[in-house]
Amino acid sequence: MSKLPKKTGFSTRCVHGIGKERKDFETMCTPLYLSSNYKLPTDGRQIQWDDPLPGIYSRHSNENEVELEKRLAAIEGAQACAVYASGAAALSAVFFSQLHAGDHVVVSTVCYTAVRRIFTEVMPVRYNINVSFVDTTNLEAVKAAIQPGTRLIHVETPGNPSMLVSDIEAIGKIAKEHGIVMSVDNTFASPFCQRPLELGADFSIMSLTKYCNGHGDVLGGCVMGSEERITQLKKEATMIYGGIMSPFTSWMIERGLKTLPLRMRQHCANGMAVAEFLEKQEDVDFVYYPGLKSHPNHELAKKQMINGYSGMLMFKIKGDAARCFKFMTALQMIEYAVSLGETETIITYTRAGAPEMSFYPEFMQEGFFRLSVGIEDIEDILADLVQAFEIIKEDRS
Ligand SMILES: *Cc1c(COP(=O)(O)O)cnc(C)c1O
Repeated sequence: MSKLPKKTGFSTRCVHGIGKERKDFETMCTPLYLSSNYKLPTDGRQIQWDDPLPGIYSRHSNENEVELEKRLAAIEGAQACAVYASGAAALSAVFFSQLHAGDHVVVSTVCYTAVRRIFTEVMPVRYNINVSFVDTTNLEAVKAAIQPGTRLIHVETPGNPSMLVSDIEAIGKIAKEHGIVMSVDNTFASPFCQRPLELGADFSIMSLTKYCNGHGDVLGGCVMGSEERITQLKKEATMIYGGIMSPFTSWMIERGLKTLPLRMRQHCANGMAVAEFLEKQEDVDFVYYPGLKSHPNHELAKKQMINGYSGMLMFKIKGDAARCFKFMTALQMIEYAVSLGETETIITYTRAGAPEMSFYPEFMQEGFFRLSVGIEDIEDILADLVQAFEIIKEDRS
C-alpha cells in the first residue's frame, strides 16, 4: 500500500501527492513539525549552509513546507515548487530575484493590486526598472511592447477583476523567441482549470490563499517551475528575503489540496449557472465569465482552460452607486468581503474609475461587482440573488 502507479490522475495526486514509502504505525497524515532549528552532525562533516533541504534552519526549509511543495509540484506537473507566506510574497520573490536595474518588464494592464503597485510605486521609482502595462489579451500589443532590455513578461489570466483571458501559449512563444522569462499568475484558475507550465510559461505563480487552500483560513503563495529556476529562487528569495510559509500554514494547505478537485467541480458548475442567470437579468448590463459564449475571449478560454472556468465572474448592475449598494446589502447569504476562492459565495464591490481598469471604458462606470461563487447549493445562491434583484426593481429608472 501507499504505492502509486507511475501515472496517476489529478485527484489522486491531490490526495496522495507523489506517494511515499510506507512504514508500520506511522501517522496517516503528515505530522506538524514545529522547530526553528535542527541538530547538526557532530562527525566533522562540512555543512552546506545554503542547502535547501530541511535539517539546518526553518527559514531555509522545513518538513511541512517540503511536503506541500512536493504535492503542489505533482498536482501541476512541475519539476519543482517553492512556497511563500502569501501570494504577494510569492510574486515579489519572482520579481525581485529576476529583475536588475535597467531592465524592462511587460505586465498585464489588469492585474492584482499588489502587483500593480510594485510596478508603479516601487520598481520604476526605486530600482530603475522600466515597466510597460500592456493589454496582454492583445498579442500585437505584447509584441509591440518588447524592447531590447525586456527581461520579464508577467501575465495574469483570467485577470483580477476583469476576467479577461490572455493566450499563455502564444505569449510564451513570443517570450521564448526574444529570450524573455514569462510568469503567469494562475490564482483565478487554479491547476484544476489551467496549467501555465504546460503551455510554455517559465513560472506559474499562485496565491494559495484562494482556491488551493480553499477555506479562507490561511494565507499562502507558491511559485512553480523547472528544478533549476526554483532552486535558484529558494537560494535567493526564500533564504535571504525570508518570506517563508509557516509549518502550520503548510499543513493546512496540504489538507485543503486534498479536496481541490471536488471543490473546483462545484465552483465551476455554480459559476457557470450564476453567470447564465445573471446574463438574463434585466438589471444587469453585462457579465464577464470565460465560460459564457458572450465573453470576448471565450474561444481562447475553451482551449486554454481545462475542466471548467472556475467560480470567478464579474458583472455590472444598472444604476448609480446607491442602487448598487442597495443590491449588495440586500443579499442575505452572499457575503460582502474581499478575497475569493473560498467555500462561501463572496461579493466585492469595485469602485468606478479604479486606475487599472482605465484601459477598458466599459469598466469605468459605477456598479460592477466581482463575485466569487462558492460551493453552496446552487438553488440557494440563485434564490439570494433573485430576492436582491427583486428589492432594487422598485427604483428602475
Ligand atoms: C489574492 C491574489 C493575489 C495575492 O495573494 P495573497 O495570498 O493575498 O497575498 C495575487 N494574485 C491574484 C490574482 C489574487 O487574486
